Amino acid sequence: MDDRQEMARLREEIETHNHAYYVLDNPSIQDHEYDALVRRLRMLEAAHPEEAHPDSPTARVGGRAAFSPVRHAVPLESLNDVFTLEELSAFDARVRAALPGPVAYVLEPKVDGLSVALTYEDGRFVSGATRGDGVTGEDVTHNLLTLQTLPEALRGAPARVVVRGEVFMPKAVFRALNAEREAREEPLLANPRNAAAGSLRQLDPEVAARRRLDIVLFNIQDMSGPWPETHREALALMAAWGLPVIPHTVFTALPPLLDAVVRLGDTREEHPFDLDGAVVKLDSLPGRRLLGSTARAPRWAAAYKYPPEQKETRLTDITIQVGRTGVLTPRATLAPVRLAGTTVTNATLHNEDFIRDKDIRVGDTVVVQKAGEIIPEILSVTLSQRPADAVPYVFPDVCPACGAAVVREEGESAARCTGAECPAQRARRLAHFASRGAMDIEGLGPATVDLLLARGLVKTPADLYRLAPADLADLPGFAEKSALNLVAAIDASRQRGLERLLFALGIPQVGQKASVVLAQHFGSLAAIRSAALEALTALRDIGPATAESLRRYLDSPQGAHLIDTLEAAGVRSTAAQPLVSGGRFAGQTFVLTGTLQRHTRDQAARRITAEGGRVSSSVSERTSYVLAGEKAGSKLTKAEALGVPVLTEEDFETLFL
Ligand code: AMP
Repeated sequence: MDDRQEMARLREEIETHNHAYYVLDNPSIQDHEYDALVRRLRMLEAAHPEEAHPDSPTARVGGRAAFSPVRHAVPLESLNDVFTLEELSAFDARVRAALPGPVAYVLEPKVDGLSVALTYEDGRFVSGATRGDGVTGEDVTHNLLTLQTLPEALRGAPARVVVRGEVFMPKAVFRALNAEREAREEPLLANPRNAAAGSLRQLDPEVAARRRLDIVLFNIQDMSGPWPETHREALALMAAWGLPVIPHTVFTALPPLLDAVVRLGDTREEHPFDLDGAVVKLDSLPGRRLLGSTARAPRWAAAYKYPPEQKETRLTDITIQVGRTGVLTPRATLAPVRLAGTTVTNATLHNEDFIRDKDIRVGDTVVVQKAGEIIPEILSVTLSQRPADAVPYVFPDVCPACGAAVVREEGESAARCTGAECPAQRARRLAHFASRGAMDIEGLGPATVDLLLARGLVKTPADLYRLAPADLADLPGFAEKSALNLVAAIDASRQRGLERLLFALGIPQVGQKASVVLAQHFGSLAAIRSAALEALTALRDIGPATAESLRRYLDSPQGAHLIDTLEAAGVRSTAAQPLVSGGRFAGQTFVLTGTLQRHTRDQAARRITAEGGRVSSSVSERTSYVLAGEKAGSKLTKAEALGVPVLTEEDFETLFL
């Protein structure tokens, strides 16, 4: 094997280990062996600088430096937009005038996702980057590797190919994610495009993997060896290599092309991705070279943009929802209407001013719009259709759930219910308490909360901890097992710790971030309760409004009582994890091996990380301790050889004394 071959082999091997380590979270090699491979590759690259290249794993510190800048050798160009069929015809006329002979076009959907360029070497996927500004993007290889449909190996591809495509979140995945978020009362993702962008920019590939992104490819940016003559052949080549290729159709005459553009718009719901237009591309690659590009986009393509879909429907009712802090949100009930792939039956009306400014009345015909998958919006009222008896909407001045007065502070758009005992607020607060980001009580969603409240089984979160399986057994939809499960889930939530408890209380202004900051600084609810306002505002990230809101809550009889009863019910009100940077194992690395008696490996690992330590899977000179149970094998031998201290479980315990 010559040096060149060895370098190629090393790169491939290192990439495989990177994949196992970063994506599968299942290291396939020991640290020092990995280091040796990288060292050897570095040495060879130093000896053959002409062979070094920017995609080599050695160019990335510690394997993959996610999001490091990547220069695109062939820029990822933009597209010129057209908005009418006339403009599209004018584009065709310009192309025909500039080129001799017949002209063919390829029509593709314009996928509303994120453009990426993928590099394959010797048939292996080596790296991928976002478009960025077209010239420089970001390395997102670690997340692209989680895409199920992106092949890691190509069949029969030339030595080096760079292909371009669009990463998208399938609409079905997007809807499922939003349904989950809605159930948990979390803010909804605006549209699949943003959701895909956010997922691709996750540092943690596991999170990206859960988002189930997909990809379609639509261009060869660069390749070694002979090029095809046409775009359709390029697409066929990509498909033959095994890449998922964009759906496409070829046209030689303008009228059928225009028809197809319109049809694609009418059937856009049928595609798994969101599409916001149709791209018309010259098929001939030599023809493309003749036409060239302007500063921002090629002259040989045009993107026809579809307007966001709008429909008229009747607004049959306006209802009011009361949130957990008492805010009243009006919602429109609509006669069902199909819009951008889903049936729309309601839309938010935001607040009193929104309704007044648009003069929206029950019985009106309204224009609704859904750009992409964004939550439907009411654009306007069709006044010509207004029924003679429609009256201006009067925003309620008492809470529809409890009858307490509704107040709207000067300068605020939100109106609030002032009822201390409001059942709607109570239900929302309970659902929030149990939600995933808070106490994470599995099986206690909004519907179950409503059931418990309706039966008078609970009033406050503290009541949850008094529930017994027998209380739940005769609830509709509950069997013995589900009752047991719910009680077990409630019990488990006792141990969530201070930061989650603080957030779960639903104190106005005290969100997840503030809860973490407070928990880490004070360590216990008792310490927070006795903290002066100044001690709270002194913390980074805690502003005066948050501090005042927190103090007001803690000093209120209801707040104090709830906390007392939660603590009495055995809910932990101290931080689950001490400040990690100050932990007793800060800066130390442990390796676990063999069968432990007193702990599971997970428990031992958690105790170590809770004290600021790190758990590694392989032994090296950098290892601080090896914790060895029975039947410890090669890691123990290695620790002894390297002189790394070996601990029994008893020794381990003494570290905590
Ligand atoms: P714009 O960003 O509006 O200039 O539109 C250009 C973008 O459309 C490119 O960056 C691509 O990401 C995207 N795009 C989606 N589908 C296609 C396609 N079939 N051909 C070319 N570009 C596409």
